[in-house]
Amino acid sequence: MPDNITVAGVAVDTRHWIGGLRVASADTFTDHSPIDGSVLGEIARGGPTEAEAAVAAARDAFPAWAATSRTERARILHAIADGVEKRIEELAIVETTDNGALLRSHRRGVMPRVAHNFRFFADWLLKLDHEDFETRGHTNHVSWDPAGPCVLITPWNAPLMLATWKVAPALAAGDTVVLKPAEWSPLTASLLADIAAEAGLPAGVLNVVQGYGFEIGDALTSHPDVRRISFTGSVPTARRIAQSAAANLTPLSLELGGKSPLLVFADADLDLAVDLAVEQYDNAGQVCLAGTRLLVEEPVAEEFTRRFVAKASALTQGDPRDEATDIGPTIHSRQLEKIDGFVQRAVAAGARAVIGGHRKGGQYYAPTLLTDVAQDSEIVQEEVFGPVLTLQTFAGEDEAVRLANDTRFGLAATVVTGDRERAERVGGQLVAGTVWVNCFFVRDLQAPFGGSRQSGVGREGGTWSFDFYCDLKNTVTAP
Ligand code: NAD
Repeated sequence: MPDNITVAGVAVDTRHWIGGLRVASADTFTDHSPIDGSVLGEIARGGPTEAEAAVAAARDAFPAWAATSRTERARILHAIADGVEKRIEELAIVETTDNGALLRSHRRGVMPRVAHNFRFFADWLLKLDHEDFETRGHTNHVSWDPAGPCVLITPWNAPLMLATWKVAPALAAGDTVVLKPAEWSPLTASLLADIAAEAGLPAGVLNVVQGYGFEIGDALTSHPDVRRISFTGSVPTARRIAQSAAANLTPLSLELGGKSPLLVFADADLDLAVDLAVEQYDNAGQVCLAGTRLLVEEPVAEEFTRRFVAKASALTQGDPRDEATDIGPTIHSRQLEKIDGFVQRAVAAGARAVIGGHRKGGQYYAPTLLTDVAQDSEIVQEEVFGPVLTLQTFAGEDEAVRLANDTRFGLAATVVTGDRERAERVGGQLVAGTVWVNCFFVRDLQAPFGGSRQSGVGREGGTWSFDFYCDLKNTVTAP
């Protein structure tokens, strides 16, 4: 297999990055572009041997990196951010080719945010401190000690953004990392390894292994030298990882799926509500935070639906490299099948497709709105992870809150209302890691991020990230 492939004019190494070296595997897997199904290349297919090598490299590199001063760690993280900024165009086109998300958002939103992930956690590290406190004349000093090698496992819907949201705080904390990107979008993680090396990150501090989760995953997550596992992905995979991590009681951070509600009250600015609702089709609906359950108060439901249909029907679906495109393809033919399966079963159970409800050729799925859905139906209860929204109506706040909270998830919720007090009242009762009022997807890296119920375990962001990636230690000194 060739060690390098060229994707949209950018050379990408297809091998693992372990201990500062490119390492091939005997086996490979094929990476396709969701845009047209074309083969992008053969990628190294790691298993237990590569997992062992990567964890060993991270373990060996740990003492020196942990002992590196905070200012030096922060300097290198900023140098990585510089490298990302220099290569925004390359990272954007490679990511779009690999996962099908819009080039315009990779260029202007996602990749600048990747750089920001490094800058933010570098700067936060330098501010990180607890005030000492006293107990009967003794001083308590709390420190954030580096924890050790971390295994970071990420999904395909926002590959580099989600990877660096974990890599940056872990490196800032003084930990070393083994990153395993998703097999459907392996490429930008390999570019990140190049950028980190060019920025002067010592060998073994960041390792990237490629492969199928079911082949390399257990060897990573059950490894006794691994001190933290941070995973973003689906609930079934999280269960497997939690079982595997249980062998060593390795601390876990789990950022999982959702079935978030978007509540529209009758006093809402309806144009804003429609804009926010249509935004839920972004990334072809493959967004964990997406408010896929539209809950609309009865008096405005008809008008809301009319305006929603008009706006959603005007969306342009097609090649994600085209600046005019609003919705690109789904990631994989298997994902497309899964989405269509959900929709067809819902329709068979009595749902009505107000728009969409069908494939559009290739890996494209028409933006879909389903009404006449029962609260306990599969389409309302399970995460579709595609451009599929349901619409239900409610009468009054109590019913809105009851419907909103009635799933096993609790990742996010959006409330659209013209009444601030109502927003506070309703928001206070919603089970969700993040509640947005009259907005969506506004995310500050210093805020805690994560999900309640089966949407996750733990929180990352700002100091919460350091709490997770560090061993907190209290030193008590006598007077
Ligand atoms: P997935 O669980 O199938 O895969 C995620 C990652 O886990 C991949 O890298 C995969 O290779 C790996 N993996 C699979 N089996 C493994 C195993 N046994 N051991 C270790 N690793 C294993 O999820 P996906 O389909 O890639 O992603 C979509 C899911 O991710 C959705 O449920 C979505 O809501 C969720 N998600 C959550 C967030 C969040 O922040 N809460 C963000 C994005 C996506």
